[in-house]
Amino acid sequence: MTGDIYRPVTNIKGIGPGRARLLEKLGIFTINDALWFFPRKYVDRREIRKISELRENESSVVIARIISVSSKRSFRSGTYICLCEAKDGTGTVSIVWFNRKGLDNILKQGTPIAISGHPSFGNGKIEFSNPDFEVLKNSSDVDKFTGIVPVYPSTSGLSARWLQTLMSRILEENIPLVSEYIPDSIIEKRGLLGIREAIIGMHRPDSEEHWQASRKRLAYEEFYFLQISLILRRERLKKSNEAAKIKPTGSSFLKFIESLPFELTDSQKAVFTQVFKDTKDGHPMSRLLQGDVGSGKTVIALGLAAAGADAGIQTAVMAPTEILAEQLYSQAQKLLHHAGITSVLLKGGQGRPERIHLIRSIKTGQAQVVVGTHAMIQEGVEFDNLGIVIIDEQQRFGVMQRGEMLSRGKNPHLLMMSATPIPRTVAVCLFGDMDVSFITEKPEGRKKIETRLIDLTKIRDLMQFIINESAAGGRVYWICPRVEDDMADQLVSVGKRYAFLKKHLGPLGIGYIHGQMSGNDKNSELGKFRDGTTKVLVGTTVLEVGLDVPEASVVVIESPERYGLSQLHQLRGRIGRGFRRGVCVLFVNKTGDDVAERLKVMLKVSDGFKIAEADFLLRGPGKILGLKQHGAAGFKVADIFRDSELLKYAKEDAEWLISHSTFLLNDPEFMKKLYVFQKNDFKVSFDA
Ligand code: ADP
Ligand code: MG
Repeated sequence: MTGDIYRPVTNIKGIGPGRARLLEKLGIFTINDALWFFPRKYVDRREIRKISELRENESSVVIARIISVSSKRSFRSGTYICLCEAKDGTGTVSIVWFNRKGLDNILKQGTPIAISGHPSFGNGKIEFSNPDFEVLKNSSDVDKFTGIVPVYPSTSGLSARWLQTLMSRILEENIPLVSEYIPDSIIEKRGLLGIREAIIGMHRPDSEEHWQASRKRLAYEEFYFLQISLILRRERLKKSNEAAKIKPTGSSFLKFIESLPFELTDSQKAVFTQVFKDTKDGHPMSRLLQGDVGSGKTVIALGLAAAGADAGIQTAVMAPTEILAEQLYSQAQKLLHHAGITSVLLKGGQGRPERIHLIRSIKTGQAQVVVGTHAMIQEGVEFDNLGIVIIDEQQRFGVMQRGEMLSRGKNPHLLMMSATPIPRTVAVCLFGDMDVSFITEKPEGRKKIETRLIDLTKIRDLMQFIINESAAGGRVYWICPRVEDDMADQLVSVGKRYAFLKKHLGPLGIGYIHGQMSGNDKNSELGKFRDGTTKVLVGTTVLEVGLDVPEASVVVIESPERYGLSQLHQLRGRIGRGFRRGVCVLFVNKTGDDVAERLKVMLKVSDGFKIAEADFLLRGPGKILGLKQHGAAGFKVADIFRDSELLKYAKEDAEWLISHSTFLLNDPEFMKKLYVFQKNDFKVSFDA
């Protein structure tokens, strides 16, 4: 068997175009993708017992032979029932499966079978109900069924069983093709497994320790390649001086500053200085601007765009949602129009004639500032002279999307903005290719936000508080964990809360908003809240990012224990922007100790960075049989929180490697690996 690890999965026998399309849905295009497609969870089938050794409710695997099969259909419920008896020489068990039509075709008298489940004991019988099973055709089937068995994320049309078989075949046949790119010296120094052993260990670990070590190696691998990419990018940028020269001295920029309805904060001034220090000589800027919610990042973006217009180049401002893009656009219109700058808004769902018109104005350069969603990186959007790319709430975008936007211009300057504070130590590692600026103070006159923790018993007081608040000119966001009711949990939905508030506070005007509404509906609800027709806006976390309604003075967050602290802080940042002091109400069902412990941080700490650090410390190490196995931020394995130490090592090692072994960079195989790696869509997101 030969082959390229990047060959398409359709090269495998049994995978035609139909199945390939389903695999694509799971992100599997090539063999390499498949090897890096890891289990969602594992089931522990290490305990194999004789029937005589079975204990009530202790999960175990039994290997036995079928002695009888009967199947019937229940008249009343229409359920198919398949009943078997099986024995192993030490005893007999009964097995029952519900609704597995056709089982009696597979299971016959004498069929050897392995089953796994929790036995129950009663009426002198040992019974398994709906156990996992495998018909044992070959001697290797026992090995496949037992041990720590992977369960892959599946998609409709591909059964979990089929995927598991496919994955074990791919693994077996292709693991020899995987190359080791980390030098022995580093492997030794950091105590890493070899790459092949680690990939095997993620799919079929022998033990928890094996899994841990495999995870560590692959997390390291991801960080290491990320660091190499960042270093190479930084070096490329450092050498270039072909970007547009942008200075804060042109007439549009000066008019922009003059017409601002407020004084810039010292922090904002300092950031402008840092920004223009890069851009004035034509070095492509690559800067991350961090500032807590409400610190006034938008002004920086628009000021840079104004100076860009003076230099005769276009600016693209990309936002993650339509609501945000619209809000940015309305600010752009207000502040840039005075300065004589034309801005346009490009988003999904615009009519064809409008879109054609917009696209033309972007192509001719008549549109100097283009605000939009990822609609800007779709087919057909061409810029005349894109020189600045600004990405708001950058943690919502992947590296790919960022790259796509940048590629629409020639050496454009890049400014990424984020209110999601990243602990400094982590930021240095993840944005090693960028300079970082911080806005450290909020505009004057901002009221402190008071945070309170209450439970259901206080709902009457809360209603009264909302009535008083709206009478005094304030407005209320009410955040619910989900859009619709779900029988599986007790969480309050937007629909239910809306109905409740409508009933009790109807005269105040209640609106609601969620991610599944059309853009127009969202806008109209938001418009009503903005102009005060509705005083309470019930919604999901679509309300989270960047909304700016100065009158909003209260945010009620239901089931706050479901969110990360940083996310709560972000939600809290929606309020306290106007004249009224802000109140954030964390509304729990019941105030228990476990809940309170974490949420107490919110009551005490108001600095977003400190909260990010606390979030960081509160996340414990991962467990193999825990639910979430996969790293956030687009990493397949790595977790920037849990693995921050590895991240630090990977950075050191990558720097060492690049300064000592440039030959690797001339190795086409290595560069290919780097390229494939970069295509992963990294998002640096800190949401829970
Ligand atoms: P964020 O950093 O969260 O994106 P915004 O840029 O949306 O914050 O700013 C929040 C609000 O503060 C806006 O209404 C904006 O007009 C206002 N603002 C920005 N800078 C100042 C300032 N220097 N003084 C007063 N208000 C300001
Ligand atoms: Mg913002």
